[in-house]
Amino acid sequence: MHCPFCRNEDSRVVDSRTADDGMTIRRRRQCPACNKRFSTTESASLAVHKRSGVSEPFSRSKVISGVRKACQGRPVTDDQLAVLAQRVEEAIRLKGVSEIDAHDVGLAILQPLKELDLVAYLRFASVYRGFDCLEDFESAIEELRTEGEK
Ligand SMILES: [Zn+2]
Repeated sequence: MHCPFCRNEDSRVVDSRTADDGMTIRRRRQCPACNKRFSTTESASLAVHKRSGVSEPFSRSKVISGVRKACQGRPVTDDQLAVLAQRVEEAIRLKGVSEIDAHDVGLAILQPLKELDLVAYLRFASVYRGFDCLEDFESAIEELRTEGEK
């Protein structure tokens, strides 16, 4: 890997450690030419296909910004959103795929969001499950009530 400071073509790893429960590896590198240090992170690639045909790397911050809209005015903290995004990523990686549709990312958000905040869940589900009438909301609420009684 090139040194970002002097563009030297070589750098050496001085330290490696896993982060995020083993999902990423952080490496400290040092450039033998200018001796500056920098870090890199490595994680298995996971591509998200958007409906527009474009694909982009999975990003927890995109998950968080999508969910944050649904959480407006709800008692949900940034830490809880970060944990939710991590759970979403873990659930997707457990499927053993390296590519996923953006729509399926939305569906993977539903379960952890349901556990976090029911109102935010209903808002989000109305988009991702394509609610288009009051009956759709009624049956989703009915579902939640049934689950709550278990
Ligand atoms: Zn350098």
